[in-house]
Amino acid sequence: MTKLHENGIEILKRLNDASFEAYFVGGYVRDTLLGLPTKDIDITTNARPKDLETLFKKVIPTGAAFGTMSVIMDGVGYEITTYRKETVYDNHRHPNAIEFADTLEEDLKRRDFTINQLTMDKDGHIGDRFEGLKDLRKKRIKTIGTPEERFYEDALRMLRAFRFVARLDFSLEENTFKAIENHRELIRKISIERIQEELFRLFDAPHSQKALKAMVKSQVHETLFGLEKGIEILSETSMAFQKEVAFACLSLFRDLTQGPWKLSKKFTQEIKAIKALHEKTMNKAFTAMDVFTYTVPIAHKANTLNQMLGAKDQATDIDMLDKRLPIRSPKALNIKGSDISKYVPISHNKQISLILNRLLEEVVERKIDNTYETLLKRAHEHLNIIEWSHKNGK
Ligand code: ATP
Ligand code: MG
Repeated sequence: MTKLHENGIEILKRLNDASFEAYFVGGYVRDTLLGLPTKDIDITTNARPKDLETLFKKVIPTGAAFGTMSVIMDGVGYEITTYRKETVYDNHRHPNAIEFADTLEEDLKRRDFTINQLTMDKDGHIGDRFEGLKDLRKKRIKTIGTPEERFYEDALRMLRAFRFVARLDFSLEENTFKAIENHRELIRKISIERIQEELFRLFDAPHSQKALKAMVKSQVHETLFGLEKGIEILSETSMAFQKEVAFACLSLFRDLTQGPWKLSKKFTQEIKAIKALHEKTMNKAFTAMDVFTYTVPIAHKANTLNQMLGAKDQATDIDMLDKRLPIRSPKALNIKGSDISKYVPISHNKQISLILNRLLEEVVERKIDNTYETLLKRAHEHLNIIEWSHKNGK
């Protein structure tokens, strides 16, 4: 038994001892039954937030308005949520009022999919009110209740459905699929941050192609603000990819720096780098300078993108180029701008960084040695070339 599980059982026992009902619920139960790794445990209980405050020393109101409190044990947070029902939905997302419920049944009914309403009590007994075990066996994602209503209430559930397909290698149950087809336009009403988050998780999951195929079939990809062409390509590739490559592919057909997309600066920079290197190497060999400038991880990602678009694999070349790099940072060049400026007329000062770049490239490409004497000699040659081309108006 893992420490995560053991501590979770302690929490259930403490609640039971105070005569409250309490169960593990949702992802943890589902993933444990499927033999998949788990990282956190959600607990559902009829204890109210104020009861939890008296029962546990360390409790943080992470979502007190929604009845969620976190209890920390050995550095891990357990989300304990009071039984609730969701009443009125606002704009196809987020209940705008929540009401505590008295029974487990009511709480489970408001959950999205049958496989996400399984419970486990302190003795390991599984509770299953809505045929979740059957759907686990049949490997399918099926809403609890009428799919049309459940997606109309909360459109994010449609993207969650695809995410679970991608993660679990499941299929969408027929009526669930049809309801997604019917309500797909509501996806446009979800906040862009939530859409991005779901796409990140989908792209990083092991069976993302399967989910993307279902997305294309249901035409959901057309509701995703310019991503349709990119998603079609991703759905057809046999390459495994990470979310950075996926977004670089999407960015070939839609400028993702434009609204409504709101990707972080850091992520945008990475996809720009992958895209730039892809454009350079799609029909050409990677060079040592490419690997040096963009780094090996980016080179491999560009190589994946190239292959998705029909180019040949250059992975072993990239690794070889990397292994043979004589230096790994511009700082390792054995000459400085000041070493060169001593020898050149002041009018040439602006040429110095240009010369340093050329020297760096020649060292990286192993055309010259990285010794001071060689570099200085070569710097003079470059100066002559520059002077010559200036004189000739080039
Ligand atoms: P993961 O492994 O990705 O965390 P999870 O099933 O635990 O999967 P969470 O987003 O952590 O997913 O949500 C926990 C549980 O809360 C779900 O299993 C489900 O029962 C319920 N739930 C979450 N989001 C929704 C939603 N939009 N509509 C209905 N129920 C939801
Ligand atoms: Mg979870």
